[in-house]
Amino acid sequence: MSDRFYTPDRLVPGEYVLAGSEAHHLATVRRFTAGDHVVLFNGDGNDYCAEVVTANRKQAVVNIVQVNATNRELACRVEIGAAMPKGDRGDFLIEKLVELGVAQFTPLLTERTIVQPREARLEKLQHAVIEASKQSGRNVLMKIGPLTRWEEFATAAHVGIRYILQPELLVGRASDGHRGSSPSLARPANKFGGILFAVGPEGGFTAKEVALAASHGWKRGSLGSRILRLETAAIAAAAWAALQ
Ligand code: SAH
Repeated sequence: MSDRFYTPDRLVPGEYVLAGSEAHHLATVRRFTAGDHVVLFNGDGNDYCAEVVTANRKQAVVNIVQVNATNRELACRVEIGAAMPKGDRGDFLIEKLVELGVAQFTPLLTERTIVQPREARLEKLQHAVIEASKQSGRNVLMKIGPLTRWEEFATAAHVGIRYILQPELLVGRASDGHRGSSPSLARPANKFGGILFAVGPEGGFTAKEVALAASHGWKRGSLGSRILRLETAAIAAAAWAALQ
């Protein structure tokens, strides 16, 4: 368990009062008391090292003694656009993408999308981003984009390499866009421009959706001949890119 606590506030050296659930977590769950050392972060890229002055379940007063610009971001910007998986699998996906260093996640609305996250759901996912950032040491929060229609996402200007992920199938319905094979992901020649992956819903992308992407410069990319659940595909692609 980490000794990191999140606040959306701007932080500067000196005394700071942490309130709400993070104070409760610090004092009651983790049982930090006066003199203990903790780290605060607010997503601005820094670690704020602090000493606990007083702590109770309602508020913790800490003294910020050191600000470190600790960079735990990937050298190459990685973004994922994906249909949302059902229920807890969505939280799992967000947690893993944060751990792997993904900069932005955009939930996609495709023809076969079943799960359309509402505002409250997206807020809950934001909570998963914060928890995973606490645990993984990230000082920059992964951004969760708004629910975006495939037509808009596929045709928007994006920097870097774009892959629409498609399983490498020998047989398949032409309506699933499986005509022609998907090559394996190629090591990017210039990875610093960033890399974007699009992952379809459990029903897959339609041929029309694949064709739209192809006509806008997306490459088809495969992660092998087994059909992965969409969250597995997104996590595998993010891990591949993160480790290049
Ligand atoms: N029935 C669908 C499978 C959908 S799996 C079909 O035949 O296309 C959900 C999504 O995960 C897919 O749309 C694709 O984006 C991704 N995916 C799953 N397995 C994959 C693989 N082996 N390679 C690349 N992408 C994959």
